[in-house]
Amino acid sequence: MNFSRSLIEWYGHNKRDLPWRNTKDAYKIWISEIILQQTRVEFGLKYYFKFLQKFPTIYALSDAKENEVLKVWEGLGYYSRARNLHFTSKFIVDNLNGKFPNTYLEILSLKGIGTYTAAAISSFAFKLPFAVLDGNVIRLLSRYFGIKVPFDTSKGKKLFQQLSQELLNENIPDLHNQAIMEFGALICKPKLPKCDICHFNNLCYAHNYNLVKKLPIKQKKIKIKKKYINYLIIENNNFCFIKKRNEGIWRGLYEFPKIETEDSLFVPNSKNFSKYLKNKYSIIRFSDIILHKLSHQHIYAKFWHLQSDVNHLESCIKVRFNKLSNYPFPTLILNYLKHNF
Ligand code: SF4
Repeated sequence: MNFSRSLIEWYGHNKRDLPWRNTKDAYKIWISEIILQQTRVEFGLKYYFKFLQKFPTIYALSDAKENEVLKVWEGLGYYSRARNLHFTSKFIVDNLNGKFPNTYLEILSLKGIGTYTAAAISSFAFKLPFAVLDGNVIRLLSRYFGIKVPFDTSKGKKLFQQLSQELLNENIPDLHNQAIMEFGALICKPKLPKCDICHFNNLCYAHNYNLVKKLPIKQKKIKIKKKYINYLIIENNNFCFIKKRNEGIWRGLYEFPKIETEDSLFVPNSKNFSKYLKNKYSIIRFSDIILHKLSHQHIYAKFWHLQSDVNHLESCIKVRFNKLSNYPFPTLILNYLKHNF
């Protein structure tokens, strides 16, 4: 059985109708691919439409302010993706006359584009013969061929990359790549794969040797760091203070002034918190502890509403409550604002 032909045939009957599959416009394909990294298709869809409505061309994106780009991206997470899109759009407009490059190596050299995205854009927009390798593809190959080498080692990466390239149908790389990823997403799913209706089940190694739950194998376990953040919503009449972050994963986004604590959050009347409050701030109310999970860290947060008559806070801007929505915030703060303002 020809692996690729079989996948493409299945794809023809079962593919989801997604907007980025009906275009050859490299700009739109690029936007969709960056949005879909670490994001479920259903969730990414509305961001895709929102993003293209606001920035329909690479020129519109390159002309935008970083704040505007982050505002559209708000809630999607992994904000470096948005910053890189913005940076790269400027680079293409300034250095390549606004024309998206059409060779794999040129695409790969762009900021924010790795081997997966370069292969996806190359094949979908320009029909270049480069095989994609994402989590869906790795899972299917590992199970079907019974590959037990951890995929996150250099040996594993090389092996999976080579195999996916060998399997590629070079005449229709766009269809092949779409088909293999769609099959991994809809049939050979991480949990509860649909082996009973999978037309590969006769030949599938993992299915035949009862290894479906064990494959693929990952070597490194992610170490989750815990963080404790007390956000201070310092209220003065209808105003409060926010600050733009200059570093970290939330660079470019806004947040309330905060105090990070070592291994637990402040409680009212605690010595350390009282030391900070002095006579300047009085507690109006505070939130329950909110747990916000990111891939590498768990953030425990509490929002403290403080009354004060201060008019100026270093590195902060004073903003009316009803103007807070003009600024981009990380999801943790955005959710709090949605439910409490
Ligand atoms: S039989 Fe199951 S594990 Fe094997 S390829 Fe099909 S869905 Fe994946």
